[in-house]
Amino acid sequence: MNIILIGAQGSGKGTQAEKLTSSLGVSHVASGDMFRKAFDEKTELGIKANAYLDRGELVPDDITVAMVLSRIKEPDCANGVLLDGFPRNIAQAQSLDEGLKETGRQIDVVIYLDVPREELLKRLSGRFICRANQHVYNLYANPPKVAGVCDLDGSELYQRSDDRGEAVQIRLDIFFNETIQLLDYYGSQQKLIEVNGNQDIDQVHTAILSQLNAFKQRKNKG
Ligand SMILES: [Zn+2]
Repeated sequence: MNIILIGAQGSGKGTQAEKLTSSLGVSHVASGDMFRKAFDEKTELGIKANAYLDRGELVPDDITVAMVLSRIKEPDCANGVLLDGFPRNIAQAQSLDEGLKETGRQIDVVIYLDVPREELLKRLSGRFICRANQHVYNLYANPPKVAGVCDLDGSELYQRSDDRGEAVQIRLDIFFNETIQLLDYYGSQQKLIEVNGNQDIDQVHTAILSQLNAFKQRKNKG
């Protein structure tokens, strides 16, 4: 089964992706990791993509799509994949559909983690990371025992610059203006599941699994 997981920064997408890939036995393909891996392995696409990232630019759609398609063909993706952070827009989604069709595969289901913008802002503004090991804390949901200090290694907690102030608004604007259009795209293909992401981590995971089962049953009935 090939799955796309869509969610804004702060929606808990990364956490749910980890839980889902282990529950479902599919490979987690996160766009950032994929770029790093392709560059480490010095693939042609990896080197091209890195040149854009080095300049602080977005990697063009054709390179990103080609990289995802080649990643999906690797043996560890034979049981299916969970795509995280890709596609970001309709153009990428269309290229992905076309590329998969050529290999006789398709996207089976798209899961949207729905979290209201105000809640995302609150979560992101409360997010702190430790300097030593990048352990993640949240002042609201998962605070450290001692303010400003990592529970696990005692190092200082800090806030990433893109989790602060205007940078957060810009990231959320991009998500709510562009990525959100994917919901219509996949909705019209009858592939969309919308899950309430405004619950605790285990409740969200349970909701995803039960809606996924209901989706499969509907599909089997045709
Ligand atoms: Zn730490």
